[in-house]
Formats: sequence, structure tokens, C-alpha cells
Amino acid sequence: MANFVDFDLEPKVLQAITEMGFEEATPIQSQAIPIALSGSDMIGQAQTGTGKTAAFGIPMISKIAREEEKISALVMAPTRELAIQVADEIEKLARFKGLRSLAIYGGQDIVRQIRALKRKPQIIIGTPGRLLDHINRKTIKLDDVQTVVLDEADEMLDMGFMDDIQSILKLVPEERQTLLFSATMPANIKRLAEQFLKNPQHVSVIPKQVSAPLIDQAYIEVPERQKFEALTRLIDMESPELAILFGRTKRRVDELAEALQKRGYSADGLHGDLSQNQRDAVMRKFRDGSIEVLVATDVAARGLDVSGVSHVINFDLPQDPESYVHRIGRTGRAGKEGKAWSFVTPRELDHLNFIERVTRHKIARKPLPTMSEAIEGKQRILAERLLEVVQDGELNEYKAIAIQMLEQFDSVNLLSAAMKLMTGEKKDAKIELTPEDPVRAKRRKPSGSYGGGRSGGGYKGGSGGYKGGYKGGSTGGRSGGYQGNRSSNGTGGYKGSKEGGYQGRGGKSSYQGDRPAPKRDNFEG
Ligand code: ADP
Ligand code: MG
Repeated sequence: MANFVDFDLEPKVLQAITEMGFEEATPIQSQAIPIALSGSDMIGQAQTGTGKTAAFGIPMISKIAREEEKISALVMAPTRELAIQVADEIEKLARFKGLRSLAIYGGQDIVRQIRALKRKPQIIIGTPGRLLDHINRKTIKLDDVQTVVLDEADEMLDMGFMDDIQSILKLVPEERQTLLFSATMPANIKRLAEQFLKNPQHVSVIPKQVSAPLIDQAYIEVPERQKFEALTRLIDMESPELAILFGRTKRRVDELAEALQKRGYSADGLHGDLSQNQRDAVMRKFRDGSIEVLVATDVAARGLDVSGVSHVINFDLPQDPESYVHRIGRTGRAGKEGKAWSFVTPRELDHLNFIERVTRHKIARKPLPTMSEAIEGKQRILAERLLEVVQDGELNEYKAIAIQMLEQFDSVNLLSAAMKLMTGEKKDAKIELTPEDPVRAKRRKPSGSYGGGRSGGGYKGGSGGYKGGYKGGSTGGRSGGYQGNRSSNGTGGYKGSKEGGYQGRGGKSSYQGDRPAPKRDNFEG
């Protein structure tokens, strides 16, 4: 791993990096920064959380002159949440150099964006749909762009942005540098790269194999109608520090967040229909720990970098294994342990089996937590909290009455009563969720294509190696191993028996499966 001083960066950029607390470059940064600084086109493949923003941001910022008044760099990102995250990081990196950057995304008042554009930012970070809007209104001109970055390119194509991206790229001058980042390299990404990149250099970071499994995966078989009861018991039993709860639809997310609140849990929902202010408020509360359960759709949670997530709960099983891997990757990060629980209805057991085969990881079956396990869990946490308060001290105001009471009553009874009070009466508001249809394993053509393609991180490890391969990345996030080819015709390639099907050794093979046609209904660009 390289030190940032080795890259021969200008002092103001180095100063920003130091200020941000980066001590050494991450693996993707070590590889990508020198290449990007050399001016060459590049394709970078790495999981979420590996530092890709600075990997392209540092060289991009280095190239731009401070007094430039035109848009010199354009970054495309799939969602407003990601565009904002990238823009924040770019702004910090460019701060001492004094460059201006601006995030452009759907859902925000376009007039406000037009006003902000008058400040002549040199760097634009935007979602493709809204960018195109501005281009058509001539409020954004791309004639002077020297660097284009496609961030999370696979997600952008998944969300149906192919046409928009192509239209935009055709408007950028030919003699530019193009950097493409993607967690996976399905065929459509390769095609896009062939069309728009010139002799790109490839950089990929294969997740390290670590023997200690960081994500503990389990499932509970439960009928659709009993899921919510199961959920409250599970939360009580596990008392997560921070949990992300995945629901299949926006309606589901809304209903779950509301139902949890009714039962006295601190929960909130995140999905594409919320206004930017609402989303920001939810994320702030989740980050500072004032909500313990974040209910989200896949799209809303994509790419979110929240540390300290102790539990991922799949209230609904995701349709495809790749989403499963993305979801559970929200926990078990930065060397911490995480737990991933999935609810599986009886009709979804086949689908679970499919996920297990693709991810090459057996998911442990666990019984539904019993009422007494739930209560025990709650009490354990309560006891821990009590002890913390004891340690913090500052109890003097209470001591006189405590002594008085102890003279008259039994200490065990007193403490039990205090704990009963603290648990609060369990609110038993009646909860009715709209049922979701079970996910079904899709029909797979027997003549599918298997991997062989060079993926950045196949499932590693010879025997049941998924555990090692995926969990290995200490930063968690995505595994590079499963590669859906996102064909929209729904037939593609899974084949093979449990044993013979995967050629996965040493990260060489990739599963190439299908994905449903891109959905635009809940995209957030
Ligand atoms: P990715 O785009 O690969 O998902 P990000 O660029 O969002 O990852 O980076 C993830 C987090 O790691 C961010 O909070 C970022 O500030 C931090 N980070 C990036 N590079 C470094 C580094 N060299 N040292 C420490 N932290 C870093
Ligand atoms: Mg990123």
C-alpha cells in the first residue's frame, strides 16, 4: 500500500487528504491514482467501501486549474444519495485547492440547481437523468469536460440509465479521460467500456480472504402472516445496536416502519419516494444512533456507507443472490462482527436454496425465537444498561430514597420492579401488514454460460469458500464474485449441480446469472 506522498501530488491536495485523516492509500487507490494521473482511461473494480471516490477524485482534482471557469470534470452516479456522498468527499478533497463542485440530482428544485451552476463549478457530480435535463436546457455544457467518471456503473445500468449515459458521453469531447468504476463486470458494462473508453487499463481489488467469518448468516422459516411477530421477537432477542431491515417494496417499508413505531421501537423507513430532506433526516438519525432500525428497500440502501450496523434482517427475501450479498454486506464491516437474518416463507425455501448455491454458503436454519428468548434478550440489555449507569455514577440524588426503600423491602423485588418499569409495557398495537407474494426461483435454462470471465473477486477458497471469499473484505460491502448479466429476457445462465456448477477457485470464475429487466419505477436519479 502506498503512502499519499508517493504520488507526487500538489501540496494543497495532500493537505486535504491529511485533513481528512487518510494515512495511507487503500489498495484500489494505490493502483488507480498513478494510472489516472498518467491520463490513461481506466476500469476499476472493487467493493463498496474501498475508497473509490478518492481513487478517482484525487487525480481528477489534480488535473483542474483553480482559475478554470468551465465544467472540467463530470461524475455520474446512480442515485442522489450516492451523488451527494461523492460530492461531499470531492468537496473535502478540493477544499484547499479552492475548486468548486456541485451535486445535481433529481428531486431537488431545478431552479436552485441552475442558480448554483452560475457559480461556475469545475466539477459536477450528477445522476444521469437530471444531468440530461440540464444539458437539454443548456444549463450544463459539456464542451470543456476533460475527465468523465462513471461511478457504480453496474448500478446505473441496472437502473436503466444506459441510454442516458450514452447520450451524455456522446456530448463530451473525444479527447478526454474516462474512468469507469463498477463492483461487477457484466457484459453490458464491458460493451459500454468498449464503446466509450480508449485502451483502458484495468485495476481490480480482490477481497482478501480472512478465516474468521465476520457475518453470521441464519434464516428462520416463517409464514408470511407471522413475519411481524417473528420480527419483534428477533429484535428483542438480539437487541441490535443498529439494524437495517430490508423490505421488498416501498409500501412494505412504510408499513414496517410504522408498525415498529407503534410497538415502541425506534424505527424509520428509507425509500425512493421520500423527499431529499426526509431522507437526510432519516440518515442523520440512523448515523447518530437515535433510530435503531432502518427499514429500507434495496435501492434506498444501495451504497450507503454506515458503520456500526450490527444486524441485517431480510424481512423479505431478495429476488436475486447478488442483492442478498449486497444486503448482508451492510454489516460485518471494519473488522466487526455482524449478523444477517432472513425470513423465508415455506414457499421460498427453494429460492433460499438457490441463493445458498450461488453464494456457496450454507445459511443456518434457526428456530423462531420463543417468547421467553425475546424477554430474556430484552432483560439482558436492560441489565447491561443498568450496570452502565452504575458505572457512570452521579446517583447521589437517588440514594436517600434508595436506602429508605431497601430498609423496608427486599432488594431483589425492588430491582425487579425497577426493571419492569424500565422495559415499559409492551405496546400490543394490532399490526396488519399487506402480504407480499413469495419470491420464486426463476426458471433457468440448462445451457447457461458459466463464468470463465475474469472477475475481480470470484468466490474464493476451495471448500465452501464463499465464507472466506466474501466475508474476507474487511470493508465488507460487495462481493465481486457473483456476476449477473442483467439480461432483460430473464433467461440466462445458471446451471449445474451443487458441486459441479461452480468453477470457482482463486477468484477466476464467475456466476453469470440473469436478473430481471431493469426497473425504473423506484429509481432515484
Ligand atoms: P467506495 O466508493 O469504494 O464505496 P468511498 O470512496 O465512499 O468508498 O470510501 C469509503 C469511506 O472510506 C469514506 O468514508 C472515505 O472517506 C474513507 N476513505 C477513503 N479512502 C481512505 C483512506 N485512504 N484512508 C482512510 N479512509 C478512507
Ligand atoms: Mg462509491
